[in-house]
Amino acid sequence: MPFAQVDGIRYFQFDSLQALGVRHGIFTRRGGVSPTPWDALNVGGLVGDDAGRVLENRRRTFQALDCPLESLYDVWQVHSREVVCTDEPRLPQQPHLKADAILTDQPGVTLFMRFADCVPILLYDPKRHVVGLVHAGWVGTVSKVAAYAVQAMQEQYRSAPGDIVAAIGPSIGAHHYEVGQEVIKQVQTAFGQDVSGLLVRTNGTAEGKALLDLWAANRLVLEHSGVRQVELAGICTACHLDDWYSHRGENGRTGRFGALVRVPAR
Ligand SMILES: [Zn+2]
Repeated sequence: MPFAQVDGIRYFQFDSLQALGVRHGIFTRRGGVSPTPWDALNVGGLVGDDAGRVLENRRRTFQALDCPLESLYDVWQVHSREVVCTDEPRLPQQPHLKADAILTDQPGVTLFMRFADCVPILLYDPKRHVVGLVHAGWVGTVSKVAAYAVQAMQEQYRSAPGDIVAAIGPSIGAHHYEVGQEVIKQVQTAFGQDVSGLLVRTNGTAEGKALLDLWAANRLVLEHSGVRQVELAGICTACHLDDWYSHRGENGRTGRFGALVRVPAR
């Protein structure tokens, strides 16, 4: 079952990661304390919601996975290709580092990120016991942040890309993601001859625009890095506003849903 439910909190899990004992979840917006337009389980601190409610929502997500909130490690997500490797949780008074990929091999650390259309990518190397969490919007996708995460797993933890299991979470689907010339040009530059399957035009596509398939693009980035196993949730955030926050689907007035991942205890 891809969805689990605990005390009104509903979250998505990947079969491939579950089979390997990786504690993880991508949390829907259900079961939290925030009012409209952040209803209800908003974990984003920079979207106008009250800090006390955001903290309570985060507490609920961590509790649902039986992870202590004190094990949280997160970064200031800035659409970069920066990767941070951590051995420790982030203390509340410690400033966030700017990055869009985080890695750890420590079972006492829970990696945490916030999303509303951008692509969550979870990584796990069962041989080297390393987990990763990546945030890839269109900027992160064309700068291939997922490839930098895989490279850091090789360099810092001696992972072999062929051992890494990757999972692409709920995010905006191509049919809901029309982009203009600026984005089209950057996707063409980044992906060269592979671009044809990533930029799609249909009868309804406006002149000079195209539909960008972020799922296929990130799958390609991972495969070019040598990752062989990629599970795709195939869930579009803008199609399912009852479950997910969608920046585009809700015209920017929305919250952020949480993704958590943790190495299995040895
Ligand atoms: Zn959709």
